[in-house]
Amino acid sequence: MKITKAVLENLIKESKALEKAIAGEELTYDDGIELMSYDNLYALGAVADLVRTRQVGNRVTFAASYYLNYTNVCAASCQMCAFYRKGNESDAYTLSAKDIEARVGKAKEMGATEVHIVGGFHPDLPLEYYEDMFRAIKQSHPEMHVKALTAAEIFFLSKLTKNSVKEVLTRLKAAGLDSMPGGGAELFHPEIRNKIVRGKCSGQEWLDTIEQAHNLGIKSNATMLFGHIEKPEHIVDHLIKLREVQKRTKGFLTFIPLKFSLENTELEQEKLVTNESPSTYDLRVIAVSRLLLARQLDNISVYWVALGKKLAQVALTYGGNDLVGTAFSEEIYKAAGKGTNSSILELANMIKEIGREAAQRDTFFNIIKTF
Ligand code: SF4
Repeated sequence: MKITKAVLENLIKESKALEKAIAGEELTYDDGIELMSYDNLYALGAVADLVRTRQVGNRVTFAASYYLNYTNVCAASCQMCAFYRKGNESDAYTLSAKDIEARVGKAKEMGATEVHIVGGFHPDLPLEYYEDMFRAIKQSHPEMHVKALTAAEIFFLSKLTKNSVKEVLTRLKAAGLDSMPGGGAELFHPEIRNKIVRGKCSGQEWLDTIEQAHNLGIKSNATMLFGHIEKPEHIVDHLIKLREVQKRTKGFLTFIPLKFSLENTELEQEKLVTNESPSTYDLRVIAVSRLLLARQLDNISVYWVALGKKLAQVALTYGGNDLVGTAFSEEIYKAAGKGTNSSILELANMIKEIGREAAQRDTFFNIIKTF
């Protein structure tokens, strides 16, 4: 989006929050609320795009990730989830360390540089299962980056195995855990969280767990599930809470707003959500994320799997600078009706089509190759 200063100034008049964003000031909670209902979406997007350009330039990155779900058996039963099984269904599964190691080998052949491993809260798997999994991967594929287990899974494991969060993280790090994905955050505010998750840690427990991981030198991503029953204040609350952790730890690598996928979820079956969010709302959330997190976090990732490729391209002009991910295999969104495979060249072309420079990155945003 190219826009002159004069046109922009005209567009943003009457918005103190946008003026502050252009001046490079930190936005407050009230600013966030203002922007969530600011009527000129185009101006909001233009300012988010301007701030993105200042922070990270014109490049759009992506990682070659292999998504691996080690089990769909889960002790929780979240209303927003289409993935979990209770264990006795014909399609319930749990992969062995050997299965996982073999799949990672295939991922390496496909060009993946990181493996993204998440699963359900399996009630019977000991901590050794995860240690064995990471050791098996590292033994055969030492160069593969292991990005595994959300803060929610770590918290569950801590309760299940009666070890502290710190002990669980320390043992898993020693076994080969390199970083953590950002899932399980959903929305922190209890008013919403209690209606979309059942049996998962609280928002504060997620935040405390991730902060402990950062303090142990394990960096992570952060996510936010939007587009279901939330109101603007819940989005802003979530972003500010993440920003506070980031100020203390600098441990978040990127923020990934995740659009809620309706199909096959309890929220759909109970008719609590009847439609997925409109694209205008999705773009607003991405733009507000860029503006509220600016100064603390450079990277806002666009999850094209949930948005679709066309809207993902537009989202990259509303504050996004990274595409996640090259999902060679991804079961969770597939369970909720989204197709997920893409290749490295396809992603590079998506970026080049909108006139931006495409670059493959590693997990820590070091550039591996430009296109
Ligand atoms: S979202 Fe995660 S914790 Fe919740 S039911 Fe699904 S797999 Fe289990």
